[in-house]
Amino acid sequence: MKNSTDTPAGPRDWSPEEFRAAGRELVDWVARYLENVEELPVLSRVKPGDIRRALPRSAPAEGEPFSALLRDLDQVVLPGVTHWNHPCFFAYFGITASAPGILGELAAAALNTNAMLWRTSPSTTELEQVVLDWLREMIGLPEGLFGILTDTASVSTLCALAAAREAVPGLDVRTAGLSGAGRLRLYTSTQAHSSVEKAAITLGLGLAGVRKIETDEAYRMLPAALAEAVREDRASGWIPFAVSATVGTTSTTSVDPVEELAQICRRESLWLHVDAAYAGSAAILPEYRWCMAGCQHADSLVTNPHKWLFTPIDASALYTRHPEVLRRAFHLVPDYLQSSEEAVNLMDYGVQLGRRFRAIKLWWVLRAFGVEGLRKRLREHCRLGRLFASWIDGDEGFQRMAPVPFSVVCFRATWPGLDDAQLDQRNQDLLERVNAGGRVYLSHTRLRGTYVLRLAVGNLRTEERHVRLAWDVLQAERGRVA
Ligand SMILES: *Cc1c(COP(=O)(O)O)cnc(C)c1O
Repeated sequence: MKNSTDTPAGPRDWSPEEFRAAGRELVDWVARYLENVEELPVLSRVKPGDIRRALPRSAPAEGEPFSALLRDLDQVVLPGVTHWNHPCFFAYFGITASAPGILGELAAAALNTNAMLWRTSPSTTELEQVVLDWLREMIGLPEGLFGILTDTASVSTLCALAAAREAVPGLDVRTAGLSGAGRLRLYTSTQAHSSVEKAAITLGLGLAGVRKIETDEAYRMLPAALAEAVREDRASGWIPFAVSATVGTTSTTSVDPVEELAQICRRESLWLHVDAAYAGSAAILPEYRWCMAGCQHADSLVTNPHKWLFTPIDASALYTRHPEVLRRAFHLVPDYLQSSEEAVNLMDYGVQLGRRFRAIKLWWVLRAFGVEGLRKRLREHCRLGRLFASWIDGDEGFQRMAPVPFSVVCFRATWPGLDDAQLDQRNQDLLERVNAGGRVYLSHTRLRGTYVLRLAVGNLRTEERHVRLAWDVLQAERGRVA
């Protein structure tokens, strides 16, 4: 279709009228989708390659009407979507595209700023700083922390550990590279997220540069084991430089004893990074503030608003007490980017040059729901987690596999007379049956080798009836697995 602003020199974009009409249609589509998402199978049922085969091999030569684009969203794309917006999405960590967040993405796309320098969009830079300061206060971190938005916790942790390496006296990897730098060692627990190891790979430390510390019976890093590992490593020529503690581990949401780890870091001059990607959000609740104990000493900390704060993916907040070190790790200004203002240029604090306007969606989510509104919803999620755990605890056919600090429950089904390997297989079968039904979606993990099912409450639209449905489905399918 030629649109009304097609000229001999090509399209001049849609006319305002065309944009309004298409925009209204899309907003209606989104409203309908969110209204009806509960009716769709949570886990997509397509096979690998199905979606690809349903799409043309080449781009269209001539423009198509917006109605055709929308039609394919329904007919081609939707069947291949696993619905993270579904209230019965209990896998991994639930995330939500809330209405204010979705509209925030639209506003950001419309403005299309690139905040590499302060002057290339002052609002983008300054709103980001202000919103991250709001969030810092909400989760009880001290004043004076520098915050920056990245896409994911993985990238936040990568940047934090680059700063940690930059902070090692006399190393200067920035100039000299790693060869001849000595063997740097980073410590994290056996329960830490894989992003810590990925950062080590990317930074050239290698997997050998990561030493995994054992955890206690509740999957929390053992400070004494850390202290011993550091001592041992120093004695054999390693250069210990950083510890990555976790507040809310990925499998069980356990919380490392950050206060004690911070003492070791201070004593040993190690950079303390805290990965609070999921559980950081819980700290907006006064009754969950305990989970951040010791984090005031962290040199850097990451938490993901896109995880449990109803902000559409992606948005990860990286905080540091040493912005000058982070800047030293990444600051590199070619002539064409020189600028004279006394202002923060966000390109100096990470890998990427171009930066989109991520702060708007978070700003709108915080303003639209308010801190009290968000607290109520997170409190309800934690209540639902505890409720589900109480059903598990009260049923002889199920067994709880870890404490429930927040809204995630690790458990397995049991049958009398089976050994661990058989129980692993049965639980695997059970999970497959549960997810194939399409009404709920759960995921799994392994704890000390044992196959464990995992129910995570985190979607804005999840109510008690949804958790109850998951429980009903699990009980029914347990009866069918044999
Ligand atoms: C989810 C999660 C991550 C990874 O988050 P991304 O934003 O997807 O990179 C890292 N650490 C923890 C503890 C997490 O829960």
